[in-house]
Amino acid sequence: MSRYTGPVCKLCRREQEKLFLKGDRCNTPKCAMDRNGRAYAPGQHGPTARRRATAYSVQLREKQKLRRIYGVTERVFRSYFSKATRQEGIAGDNFLRILERRLDNVVYRLGFTTSRPAARQLVAHGNISVNGRKVDIPSFLVKPGMVVELNEKIANQEFIQNSLNSARVRKVPAWLKLDDAKAKGEVINLPNRDEIAIVINEKVIVEYYNRMG
Ligand code: SF4
Repeated sequence: MSRYTGPVCKLCRREQEKLFLKGDRCNTPKCAMDRNGRAYAPGQHGPTARRRATAYSVQLREKQKLRRIYGVTERVFRSYFSKATRQEGIAGDNFLRILERRLDNVVYRLGFTTSRPAARQLVAHGNISVNGRKVDIPSFLVKPGMVVELNEKIANQEFIQNSLNSARVRKVPAWLKLDDAKAKGEVINLPNRDEIAIVINEKVIVEYYNRMG
């Protein structure tokens, strides 16, 4: 299945939760989840549908929520899960750590953009280098010691400076070190679960994939 490119606010309404896919707009009254009467699932039956939550539906919705937050396809998401289960330690923690290592996520966490979809575009358009070499693959996984840098040509553009200002407010996580004068960041180490600011129950996602076999 290809990557979802439709209206992203629908995804928040489907999950009945803010997924913060539109940057600063998500924190304004224009957010579809905050606008009067719009916080229901999309579609004809969205406002009236009453579904009984089963263990499976809870697992499925949590999995979809996490997948949509990081903007990856089911195929890639599942491959991350399979990689996580082969690593030592807790599968759920490993899974989240792999998602956090994606280059588009790191660009977002460093504050070069205010959303992951915008970060993905910045990477795909060749505006990011890793250790001095252009990398235009959003799924590239960073390692400790790598230096992620914004192309000099756009580093001083207003939208980047505005994003960096927002990042100063929301704070760059401790596993990354930002030199915002140069729009450059270093991966200090890989994040622990408590350094990954995502409200998700990864245990039920592990249960979901274990159930699917
Ligand atoms: Fe979700 Fe942001 Fe749209 Fe609000 S504005 S519904 S948080 S993507």
